[in-house]
Amino acid sequence: MNLLVVVGARPNFVKVAPLVAELKKKGISYDMVHTGQHYDNSLSKIFFDQLEIPTPDLYLGVGSGTHGVQTGKAMMKIEELLMKNNYDLVCVVGDVNSTLAAALAAVKLHIPVAHIESGYRSFDMGMPEEINRVIVDRISQLLFAPTETAVLNLINEGISQERIFFVGNIMAETLLKNLHKVKKPKSIDAKKKEYVLLTVHRAENTDNKKKILSIFNGIDKCPYNVIFPAHPRTIEKLKKYDLMDKIQKKENIEIVSPFSYLEFHYMLSNSRAVLTDSGGVQEEALLHKVPCLTLRKNTERMITLQYGANTLVGTDTKSIAVNLQKILQDKDASWPIPPLWDSNVSKRIVDVIQNHPELLIMPSNDFIK
Ligand code: UDP
Repeated sequence: MNLLVVVGARPNFVKVAPLVAELKKKGISYDMVHTGQHYDNSLSKIFFDQLEIPTPDLYLGVGSGTHGVQTGKAMMKIEELLMKNNYDLVCVVGDVNSTLAAALAAVKLHIPVAHIESGYRSFDMGMPEEINRVIVDRISQLLFAPTETAVLNLINEGISQERIFFVGNIMAETLLKNLHKVKKPKSIDAKKKEYVLLTVHRAENTDNKKKILSIFNGIDKCPYNVIFPAHPRTIEKLKKYDLMDKIQKKENIEIVSPFSYLEFHYMLSNSRAVLTDSGGVQEEALLHKVPCLTLRKNTERMITLQYGANTLVGTDTKSIAVNLQKILQDKDASWPIPPLWDSNVSKRIVDVIQNHPELLIMPSNDFIK
């Protein structure tokens, strides 16, 4: 069996780390391709080093661009690669443009696709990531779901149950396997539980000056320092909107470069609370038992709401301020860890791939019932 594993952006690297380690352990042959969607060292290379992910066999250099440019370029280059080699399965993770490009290129060449982190839905087609999730699940042969709700979402869309596997959350596996290595960033002088962490990078927030301003006004009165590892896209937008100086002048906000994975998890686990529009960070906050406020009107990570670990606050100044005040006063952040969010997720995935050869044959009829 010969697999192609496709990665492109920061959250992909985190999800793929345990998978490629398990493939190696089981002696399954694979190539890994990096589309280059994220190319900045702080969003890419450092993750390969820290998470001990082998250097990709191929780097496609797709870079940034509009959705069409990014997806189109990645699709063309992945198609070329798929035509030159014989792969039995293409493994894609998450919901970024590289995930969609690889799945589309593969399915059109009749190569089966396995989607890891399948079934998450925000039910908001205004989100580019939701479009990617829905399409990739519709054309995948093997669907690896992180939660029971994700399984139900897939069943509700008509996907046959034989192809859906509830395996748990692979980001949890990465975190659990790296917890003992987390390290304090050298540049940060922050006392445990005496700061709040902030991440903002979703296009729906960064592409709108009013929303960005409203978010920062909402944290204006936060009694703790707010440490903000800013994504390059967010910095670019803040500069474009002439907001960089204004935010830098705020006494309680410290803008820093994106943290490496191990630094980020030191900072997250020791923070009093986190404000974020990231998908993965909502889950990681749950795992660290740190209360999370999500700066969006919806989430595909429903489980974080069901467990009481997360609150949707949107981008309204008052809603952010009120909810922040509330969670900073809450004494006990206690909720259980969801089922199968453990250290064996990659093992379950690889077992399914090995034990279901019938699913590596493309159906001649439609994929759904
Ligand atoms: N992350 C990191 N450093 C940071 C911010 C985030 O290492 O400064 C990690 C975080 O732990 C998570 C991943 O990046 O594993 C999430 O990526 P991102 O928020 O870019 O993507 P999303 O999950 O929203 O798709």
